[in-house]
Amino acid sequence: MKIDLDQNSGAEEVVSARLADGRVRQSPRNLTSREYRSAGTMVDIDGVKVGLIELVVMAGPCSVESAEQILLIAREVNAAGATVLRGGAFKPRPSPYDFQGLGKIGREHLRAASRETGLKVVTEVVDPREVELVTEYADCLQIGSRNMHNYPLLCEVGRSSKPALLKRGLSASYKEFLLAAEYIMAQGNEQVILCERGIRGLSNELRFTLDLNAVPYLKQRTHLPVIVDPSHGTGSARLVPAMSLAAIACGADGIIVETHYSPVDSISDAAQTISTVEFAELMKDIAAVAEAVGRKAHSPVVR
Ligand code: PEP
Ligand code: MN
Repeated sequence: MKIDLDQNSGAEEVVSARLADGRVRQSPRNLTSREYRSAGTMVDIDGVKVGLIELVVMAGPCSVESAEQILLIAREVNAAGATVLRGGAFKPRPSPYDFQGLGKIGREHLRAASRETGLKVVTEVVDPREVELVTEYADCLQIGSRNMHNYPLLCEVGRSSKPALLKRGLSASYKEFLLAAEYIMAQGNEQVILCERGIRGLSNELRFTLDLNAVPYLKQRTHLPVIVDPSHGTGSARLVPAMSLAAIACGADGIIVETHYSPVDSISDAAQTISTVEFAELMKDIAAVAEAVGRKAHSPVVR
């Protein structure tokens, strides 16, 4: 099956970008496009490979709440087969009066949990001036949905040696999403993972609408790995398992799932957070779906 993907793609443009060291980089194709690189890019999160046959599963709480909280969750998700620990230390919340994250100390708790479990860390960076600092604590730099259009931040992450997890803006088109990734790549960082995390839809019942069309569309347009966030994508823990499996079935390279040992006690995003017990169940179902679509899930740790 051949789909015409060139509509709206901008793939014919000659791309030219000035790198941090002053050199000018030119490419006849967008750096994110399959025309630029036909084979899929493998992103390496300090040994965890994203974009190969084995799926990546990133799990952890919305926010780091304490050293004990993140360590306990890290142990549980690690045992169930996750390989990357998520957790926000700086939280861009819709209301300035909501919990904004533990900040620097939260990143230290993440690093400590990573040291003990061997999980790699993905955490959000919200400020271009902090990219270098976050790099000391994180193995992968998350750019949140609200910052997908933050061009100084995209450029700064583009100058970093750490892989980037770029989340789609709440109302960004595929073209805008790919051009945001282009900003990162144009600065020299080709280690970019795209994350579909739901867009604003018509439903008042759910927080966001998970746009799974994005997965096969992007996989055909770009060589970059694509993962899915069913937690923000639905806003509802009860929908997370089904949409996680759907994401794998339609070709995602992995998922990122908000998980807590006691979801109701989560300081942020409690309604969309699954329990560590539910997560372990989900991992078993993921293994079955992965096999059906020619992928592989990371094996859980035998205890
Ligand atoms: C998050 O991952 O906790 C988060 C805030 O995600 P998003 O940027 O997709 O809303
Ligand atoms: Mn969240």
